[in-house]
Amino acid sequence: MSRTAGRRDAGTDRRLLTLVGLIVVLASGVVVGAIASLPRTLPDSVRDIGTFATLIFMITLGGVVKASIRVRSTTHSIAWVETAVVIGVAIAPASWVVASTVLGVAASSIILRLPAIKSAFGIGKNVLIAGGTVAVTSVLDWPGESPSIGGLIGTLAIVYLVAALLDDLLAMPVIALASGTPIVRQFRTDLDLRVAGFAVRFLVAACTVLILRADPRLLLAVPPLVLSLHLAYSARIRTRTEQQAWQRLARTTDALNVVDLDQVLTTAVTEASELFSADEVEIELRDGGRTVRGNGTDIAYDGTAPQPSAVDGQVMPVPLEGHDRTDDVGVLRLRFAGPVELSEREQYTLRTFASALCTAVRNAQAYAELARIAEDHAYAATHDALTGLSNRRHLLDEGSAQLTTRHADGVTALVLIDLNHFKEVNDTLGHGAGDQVLIQVAERLRGAARPDDLVARLGGDEFAVLLRGLPAPAVAAHRAEALLAALHDPLDLDGMRISVEASGGIAVAPATGGMAELLRRADVAMYQAKRAGQRVATYAPARDTADLSRLTLGGELPRAVADHEFTVNFQPIVDLAGGEVIGAEALARWHHPTHGLIDPLRFLEAVERSGLLPAFAEAILDQALIAAGSWRDAGFDLPVSVNVSPRSLLDARFPGAVLARLRAHDLPPDRLVLELTETLTLSQLDVVDRVLSRLRDSGVRLALDDFGTGYSSLSLLSRIPVHELKIDRSFVGAMETAPEAAAVIRSTLDLGRSLDLTVVAEGVESEPQRRALWELGCAAGQGHLFARPLPAAALLAALQRGHGGRTGALAPALHDAGAVIRLPGRRTGRTRPSPPAATDARQP
Ligand code: C2E
Ligand code: CA
Ligand code: CA
Repeated sequence: MSRTAGRRDAGTDRRLLTLVGLIVVLASGVVVGAIASLPRTLPDSVRDIGTFATLIFMITLGGVVKASIRVRSTTHSIAWVETAVVIGVAIAPASWVVASTVLGVAASSIILRLPAIKSAFGIGKNVLIAGGTVAVTSVLDWPGESPSIGGLIGTLAIVYLVAALLDDLLAMPVIALASGTPIVRQFRTDLDLRVAGFAVRFLVAACTVLILRADPRLLLAVPPLVLSLHLAYSARIRTRTEQQAWQRLARTTDALNVVDLDQVLTTAVTEASELFSADEVEIELRDGGRTVRGNGTDIAYDGTAPQPSAVDGQVMPVPLEGHDRTDDVGVLRLRFAGPVELSEREQYTLRTFASALCTAVRNAQAYAELARIAEDHAYAATHDALTGLSNRRHLLDEGSAQLTTRHADGVTALVLIDLNHFKEVNDTLGHGAGDQVLIQVAERLRGAARPDDLVARLGGDEFAVLLRGLPAPAVAAHRAEALLAALHDPLDLDGMRISVEASGGIAVAPATGGMAELLRRADVAMYQAKRAGQRVATYAPARDTADLSRLTLGGELPRAVADHEFTVNFQPIVDLAGGEVIGAEALARWHHPTHGLIDPLRFLEAVERSGLLPAFAEAILDQALIAAGSWRDAGFDLPVSVNVSPRSLLDARFPGAVLARLRAHDLPPDRLVLELTETLTLSQLDVVDRVLSRLRDSGVRLALDDFGTGYSSLSLLSRIPVHELKIDRSFVGAMETAPEAAAVIRSTLDLGRSLDLTVVAEGVESEPQRRALWELGCAAGQGHLFARPLPAAALLAALQRGHGGRTGALAPALHDAGAVIRLPGRRTGRTRPSPPAATDARQP
């Protein structure tokens, strides 16, 4: 048997050449030895010449008749040379065997037109086998003098084994080197077939030797026997190879039947390398230009910009197209280091493989697309499209998951953040600007959040941040402050700077009720913050009137307006020094049929959002003017203050409506004070300027409510000339403890003096506050110290408790209350209302 190596290129060539060279050199030694002994054993008879010629013929035939197996670009042949050599050793002198091996193998190489290196290797290897065999026979003294048949077969077996081992020993390294496969694997390949082949060839050799012993003429029967055995054997090899190939193809197409494109490509590359025994396999996809390249063991490249392949030889490109030849998804390339011709079976396999791969790629791509769409849907289902933040559902899901494991990860809390006056941005600057505000707010919140936090947009201008793994509940407030502080700097909307105000509510995860309860508590806290005029508030169970949901309230508004469920209470505004009533602020109340009295901060926003604002505002104004009319009729000509929603100021019809109501109730415009809250709309929009100018020009008085809490207070004042400032109650509440609060009050009073404005302090709750305010120069105030908001009739009754035409005092005069009588410094007539009856202190 012999295997011959195919031609190789560059890299391994040198090692291959060295190896073959070594074999040739060793073989030359054997040849020289043989030639030296040739003269002594030169064939002299016709019979000898016949034997010599037969030997050459047998070896030539043994070299030509062979079964071929291709490994990568190398074809290996299993031939009969060594059988012929062993037979030769039995019938001829050693030097003849060597000589006929050289000649026979050379002749077969010429017949097969083998390349020089293959021929050299074939001759060298077989000469070495012949030499080895000869050496063993001389050691064993074989064939010797007519031994027993058993002895003959036994010795022949040893000789044959040596020949076969030498064959494998010499061929394996060369094949392994030439085909680039590991030598161990090479050895294991088709081991059973090879062993069977050896056995058959040994049997042939043994028979031949026995036949020769009986009658050399029967030797003529050997070639047909060999040929038929050979045909059977090579057919077996072919069947085996094909069977394996089909099984492998079946396994491969099975393995390609997966939905993951990566796996399809990896499997295809490694399997195709094996299936077609290629040095490298490359798959290039049309869609995206992805190229995957590798061999039976590794993926060497996977990407879109491959370097030229390192395997430089023959390339076999196969389009990856379906059976219908349409829709080609890319190309499969088999690379071989040397020239290769695929058998018909291999070509068919290749086409089948390519079409299976095409289907697999198409399926995987379709699946990937489906998976992507599903992922998009999942993302869209859990995220807000505008801001990319989590949506309400995601927050609830994540929160619920967090709450069930909260003992493991510390404290969970929720911060609810609601933008104030967002609707104005939308209505006046357009939805594009509104969206921009939301996007920027989302970015700010995301930036201020910790990695563990989940930032969500719940809808509209409402955001929530789920705080996870807090070390202690108290930390939540700090985090909430940080989140709200992130909204402090004005936003930049195409060059226009816009401030957003927001209120935050904090709730720490409750023991029961889960996420829904946490959200509800944060919502309650947020409304507490709004009501208290604070930036953030923490949920306090004591202040929770759990049954109210502003959402359900929102739906009941139309009925409330139609059924006049909104009423107005009046909170007196008093002269701080004397305690007399000098005005009253109308504060809306909702007498809900089942919920009872509802605070304005719980429903105002819903009213503003509902489109019912004009009707609501008109109803409140009407009631306020009716009340003012009733007081005047009773002899108390007090101005009434009415709060105005910023949104009303965007309505150009608003001044007309106000003036119409004044006329209807026959009240002069200066009996009405409209309280405006500082908002961005107030400061930035022309329509507001026009509305306010028209009101002002008609004699209606304007007050800036909650002064000091907003922004741009000063720039606002320069644009909108108001008559009155109302110091926010948060400053009054804090003036005794916080120097900053006192400073704000002082500077507001200074401002009032220099601009000639009335200044009213809100939220006066104690005598010390009243006195301190008075000492700072504040003339007017309102608050629980004097009275809570009262129904119009109750206020009238209080007024009527006054004597001698003076309005009833709601507190003793300051100089009555203490031993020391002090006059507040630098008071002007304007900021110091004169207390006498039925006069309007705030009239110029
Ligand atoms: P505001 O204009 O600052 O009204 C003063 C709020 O402070 C009132 O709350 C009043 O009850 C409360 N208050 C009065 N004295 C004290 C005190 O000594 N201590 C404390 N802590 N609070 C005091 P109310 O009635 O809940 O009104 C809340 C806000 O709702 C008002 O704040 C105003 O902005 C708005 N509002 C009320 N009525 C109307 C209305 O008819 N139209 C519009 N657009 N807004 C209204
Ligand atoms: Ca007010
Ligand atoms: Ca206020």
